[in-house]
Amino acid sequence: MIEGRINLYSDTQTRPTAAMKEAMVNAPLGDEQSGQDPTTRLLCEKTAALLGKEAAVYLPSGTMCNEIAILVHCRPGDEIYAEKSAHIINFEAGGPSALAGAHIHTIEGTFGMFTAEQLDAAIRVPNRYSPTPRLVEVEQTTNMGGGAVWPLTTIQGVAEVARERGLGLHMDGARLMNAVVASNIEAADFAGPFDSVWIDLSKGLGCPIGAVLAGSQEFIDEAWKWKQRIGGAFRQSGIIAAAGVYALDHHVERLAEDHANARRLADWVTQVDGVKVVPEKTETNIVWIDVGGSGVKAMDISLALEERGINIGAFSPTLLRACTHLDVSAAQVDEAGETFKAVVEALTE
Ligand SMILES: *Cc1c(COP(=O)(O)O)cnc(C)c1O
Repeated sequence: MIEGRINLYSDTQTRPTAAMKEAMVNAPLGDEQSGQDPTTRLLCEKTAALLGKEAAVYLPSGTMCNEIAILVHCRPGDEIYAEKSAHIINFEAGGPSALAGAHIHTIEGTFGMFTAEQLDAAIRVPNRYSPTPRLVEVEQTTNMGGGAVWPLTTIQGVAEVARERGLGLHMDGARLMNAVVASNIEAADFAGPFDSVWIDLSKGLGCPIGAVLAGSQEFIDEAWKWKQRIGGAFRQSGIIAAAGVYALDHHVERLAEDHANARRLADWVTQVDGVKVVPEKTETNIVWIDVGGSGVKAMDISLALEERGINIGAFSPTLLRACTHLDVSAAQVDEAGETFKAVVEALTE
């Protein structure tokens, strides 16, 4: 991909703002590995408080948060329950099996979500022959599910089943703050039932790097062992953690603008014959565009847009994904939408 003027490929594509860089340059620093970096400690304290957990640990990526959490929860031969489109299944290079030796049982949900009944039906009755049921994973918001927000009641129902059946609970909260802003429900309420939960700083929050994993003190002590073991312990990480502190203070409420821009883009693209968005209602900052009814290939649309300086990725012959974020304005979304319309119409002729 050649990066264009209007980059809707992913909310990971943001650059730190001038104010964020200033916060980074001025951050007090120390040795993180021995607990001496004041800025990283502040970031972890802020995140733990936000998520209503005892403790937190700063990690290089969301993927490492998922994998370390799974390593703490699971032993080889254990089974994790997750929706079929989950990031841990599709985009972590087989980490749960390669690292923890855990097996993933996929649930056929809707837009990345499943119900308490579906979970209850999926969980095996422990026996000599099957993997051992261990963990339930929930992705808030759902990435491949179109940025859908799990309703709090659904989460509570799923958590109740998990507890009754003796399973642990992990939340992949890569975009939890998008869910918080879209629903007006506190992060700690969404995170409440979970033993482990993390947020990504390098998505909508606009940091160049980093994610924070939270849980009980005991859980985070175990997570720290894995961080150390696989070389994820830092030195003067305050210089990057400062971006996270800044983002939690300044980049959360503005996620509402990204959501409004995503709805704006959905309005544009659905003006084209044979184009729809899935799900139909755009709740947060992700728009999956289904061009199947137009007869034009998603890849051809993506390439034509790229030639015009606009990045929207094709993920299958009929699906494109656009993500809004703090480096894309409403005017740019209008330009992208108008161009999308013109491009698909021209390719249809
Ligand atoms: C991006 C993403 C991750 C991984 O986060 P990285 O920081 O890119 O490693 C995990 N889960 C979901 C749902 C994501 O969208």
